Amino acid sequence: MNRPLLLNPGPVTLSERVRNSLLLPDLCHREGEFFDLQDEIRERLLGVYGLDPATWSAVLLTGSGTAAVEAMLSSLVPAEGRLLVVENGVYGERMTNIAQRHGIACEVVRQEWTAPMDLAAVRRRLQAQPAITHVAAVHHETTTGRLNALNELAALCSEFGVALLADTVSSFGAEAIDFSRPGFTAAAATANKCLHGVPGACFVIVRRAALKTASARTLYLDLAAWSRAQDQRGTPFTPSVHAYYALREALREFADEGGFAARQAKYTALAGQVADGLAVLGVKPLLPTAESSVVLRAYHLPVDYARLHDGLKAKGFIIYAGQGALASTLFRISTMGALGPADMARLLGEVRNLLPT
Ligand SMILES: *Cc1c(COP(=O)(O)O)cnc(C)c1O
Repeated sequence: MNRPLLLNPGPVTLSERVRNSLLLPDLCHREGEFFDLQDEIRERLLGVYGLDPATWSAVLLTGSGTAAVEAMLSSLVPAEGRLLVVENGVYGERMTNIAQRHGIACEVVRQEWTAPMDLAAVRRRLQAQPAITHVAAVHHETTTGRLNALNELAALCSEFGVALLADTVSSFGAEAIDFSRPGFTAAAATANKCLHGVPGACFVIVRRAALKTASARTLYLDLAAWSRAQDQRGTPFTPSVHAYYALREALREFADEGGFAARQAKYTALAGQVADGLAVLGVKPLLPTAESSVVLRAYHLPVDYARLHDGLKAKGFIIYAGQGALASTLFRISTMGALGPADMARLLGEVRNLLPT
């Protein structure tokens, strides 16, 4: 059988080009060739959004996306700092959990998983609590496919002189991120979502000024130490060399295909194709297009999830369940990875075959 196509939000279906990069020579991470690899990845990561390396550091880490988020929160909120987390899904809740585990003074502005962030409530909280130094929020809340108003939140943080720490794990490379606001301080992301690498490498894009006041709470996830070592063509620990090979190739492919604008346009077209095709079959989206990411959409289940999942798996497509209480009512389709319109047309045909006639 052909390889299954992954319609879950990472790991993604690899291109042959990225898959083949995993077969490059075994490499010691204390050799010059490794540091060339690391340098190229760091430079290309900043290049995705045209960021100046004098102002920003792309800090590469070995771990999944959560490691990048944890490194960002645990390193950048100082001991005397106070964090406000804006939650409307699983990944916002995870940031609160991380803050609590590290003993970071933390408060939350929480919305229903199906609701947008409440910026007016965030403003009121910032007015009422001048001790807040940092705000954390998720850009694309993968729980529901909602694209949160991160750029508006960055403007609000800038107005109050607080630092915004963003989980852009499922949006980096595919959605517009306005790094220019002074409050926008860091974005955590991973190799194996919109950049189309393999799991094992993740990164934080962080303002160099913020690293100067960083105070790490752990040895391994000390963002400032990783950044310092990488600036000096070093690495503190053994990195996932093969995942770095794949990320470098994925970033080269990203650039060859036209960069951020082209990736966003490709995703927009694929997500629209799936949404339109499902609408014809009577399958309704959870959110209107205007509130959705281009990366993933959640839909109301037309049949039992197991029937839909297993039926599509038998035809070579892996879809994704809803999380928590949404598991019984929703399913999700991500269109990241090496996928094209012909794949989506075939998917829609298979969905039609599984619906009651
Ligand atoms: C995938 C994802 C993560 C990280 O998940 P890992 O399994 O640790 O890679 C974090 N935040 C968001 C929004 C995600 O979609």
